[in-house]
Amino acid sequence: MIADNLRDVRETIAAACRRCKRNPDEVTLVAVSKTFGVERIREAVEAGQLDFGENYVQELLPKREQLPNREMRWHFIGHLQSNKAKFIAPFVHLIHSVDDFDLAKELNKRAANLGRVVHALIEVHTTDESTKFGVLPERTLALVKSVAALPNVRIRGLMTMGPLSGGTETARWSYRMLRELRDEVAAAGIEGAAMEHLSMGMSNDYEVAIEEGATIVRIGTSVFGERS
Ligand SMILES: *Cc1c(COP(=O)(O)O)cnc(C)c1O
Repeated sequence: MIADNLRDVRETIAAACRRCKRNPDEVTLVAVSKTFGVERIREAVEAGQLDFGENYVQELLPKREQLPNREMRWHFIGHLQSNKAKFIAPFVHLIHSVDDFDLAKELNKRAANLGRVVHALIEVHTTDESTKFGVLPERTLALVKSVAALPNVRIRGLMTMGPLSGGTETARWSYRMLRELRDEVAAAGIEGAAMEHLSMGMSNDYEVAIEEGATIVRIGTSVFGERS
């Protein structure tokens, strides 16, 4: 069943890419496995899925231990507390949710101790909804500049959470803003910041996100089913 869902999502991604003349290889599907157990994740791995997203450190660590597959890539997509950075710094593939300099500094310190460079996206708050995390658009350039100066954190682009309500056209506005912001930051030519990635789009709106330039879509429900 998960294999069927994955195939459907991949086909939808490919179709969205064709519509806007993009190469589907430019879009990475991150399967958001939060709340789902390792059996379901294993099913997805067997169907060829290797990128997974989790929101909570305390949920991610035991899952990773039970799934010792070295090819799996774990994306951290939730709010990360500084005091938890040390637990994921050794293995995380990409942290999507860096939104403050203190967190980046802590990641840098932990990564340096490990002789590693941690790859990260800056999370931007692009909606009116007040419950979300993320740096404000007008402060993004300054944050990218300061994080880019940290030698063991490598910025790879921006991430946003679309609006929870309002439908796909409201989401489009949010995603377009993120792309324009990315273009502005890229044009500033900040040394140490690669701005190639836009992590945006979830089950309800990933086609719109792809039309607006997403290079990473984070999809839970359409892959694993409804969360209880
Ligand atoms: C849960 C979650 C998703 C996936 O949401 P779905 O609607 O289930 O696809 C994507 N991104 C983040 C940050 C999430 O917390």
